[in-house]
Amino acid sequence: MPRPSPIASDRAAPRRPARGLSIIVPLYNEAENLPLLHERLIAFAGRLAAERGLASEVVYVDDGSRDETLNIARALSPGVSFQVVSFSRNFGKEAALLAGLDHARFDALLFMDGDGQHPPELADQLVKYWLDDNYDVVFTAKANRDDESALKRLAVAVFYKTLNWGARHPIPEDAGDFRLLSPRAAAALKRLPERNRFFKGLSSWIGFRQKRVPYEPAKRTHGVSTWNYRTLVGLSIEGLAAFSTAPLRLASLFGILISASAFLYGLWIVFETLYYGKDVPGYPSIMVSVMVIGGVQLLMIGIVGEYIAKIMSELRGRPVYFVAEHEVFDVGEKKDPREAAE
Ligand code: UDP
Ligand code: MG
Repeated sequence: MPRPSPIASDRAAPRRPARGLSIIVPLYNEAENLPLLHERLIAFAGRLAAERGLASEVVYVDDGSRDETLNIARALSPGVSFQVVSFSRNFGKEAALLAGLDHARFDALLFMDGDGQHPPELADQLVKYWLDDNYDVVFTAKANRDDESALKRLAVAVFYKTLNWGARHPIPEDAGDFRLLSPRAAAALKRLPERNRFFKGLSSWIGFRQKRVPYEPAKRTHGVSTWNYRTLVGLSIEGLAAFSTAPLRLASLFGILISASAFLYGLWIVFETLYYGKDVPGYPSIMVSVMVIGGVQLLMIGIVGEYIAKIMSELRGRPVYFVAEHEVFDVGEKKDPREAAE
């Protein structure tokens, strides 16, 4: 088996994962949440082994944290096997999830946030749907959004409506990143080549038997969410451009609408002049139409630009992340993959 490269993302490395569950946890400044989460994961892994005879590991991906996250992760007790993959800088949560996917040693995957909002106790239920009911993609969805502002809820609704407009395979609304993938679903996800990742969409797009589990996310125990409106808008544009051509279609429709009304208005002016002998109304109407056309054109160029940026980034083919350090802590032992003999 090729060992993970310590410097670059080893996306192409073929490997045949063993039977078991890899729990992928992205971490960005989660020093205060990590120790408790780790204890809960040890308990979860114990339950998996005792009740299901299932091996498991945790893949902690430190996404360039600025606090003590990395040192704390390294010093965690190996009550469960775990890996610590540490990025050279902050690459974002989607990159961290991809790194987890790349480094997982087991065939089934569980994605879970590192801030304790995704309770490991609920994971037992996800595992149940997978093993007992043979579901391939078991994803959680927020049961309600009462805690969010009306503006945010409206934005989310508009986002999903646009995303799923005319889509053959709609992406489930408000699916979270707390998700379990069966071995075949995980293998499918690994085969997707794109660099711009939108995991929510991809895990739904691959198909197989999907199961939605409504849940109430716990409150963050420490720290604040790293998401704000700016990052949410960014992720939404990412998701839209990666999954849907609806904005481009919208642009064409808009163009047709404006051209048609301009044509009709033109006819009306000709008619008015010939029939009533009226002068062409001047300055205000011209200003308004010039501004409307100008604004719409800029907007549409922006939309096209988003797609071109996406093409550029796929073309450049840069690695999605760089690993600065990678350590493996198996139950009862400690080794560094750079020193360990294969
Ligand atoms: N996260 C990350 N990289 C980032 C931002 C966040 O790996 O640049 C991780 C973070 O540590 C947490 C998860 O992604 O485990 C979700 O982040 P957060 O709680 O801020 O988001 P929310 O729960 O509000 O969606
Ligand atoms: Mg959170």
